[in-house]
Amino acid sequence: MIENLLCVLCMASVVLFPIIAISRAVWKSNFKFRRFCGECSYNTGWTSESVAGDIMYAHYLHRHPGVPPRGLIQWR
Ligand SMILES: [Zn+2]
Repeated sequence: MIENLLCVLCMASVVLFPIIAISRAVWKSNFKFRRFCGECSYNTGWTSESVAGDIMYAHYLHRHPGVPPRGLIQWR
């Protein structure tokens, strides 16, 4: 019974490992950009270019109303 359980766990890890490795690679390739606010020390964290733009636009609307969005874009 215990042996069966260990075998199931072993099979699960064999199946899961490549899935986790691939999803981590996809995650890294999609999360290459981060933007820094030009007015304060806020940054978006690593994300995609379009999401970083959306987050920073929302940040400016909320924190710096009337100021056009600017600041640094960093990529890796
Ligand atoms: Zn700001």
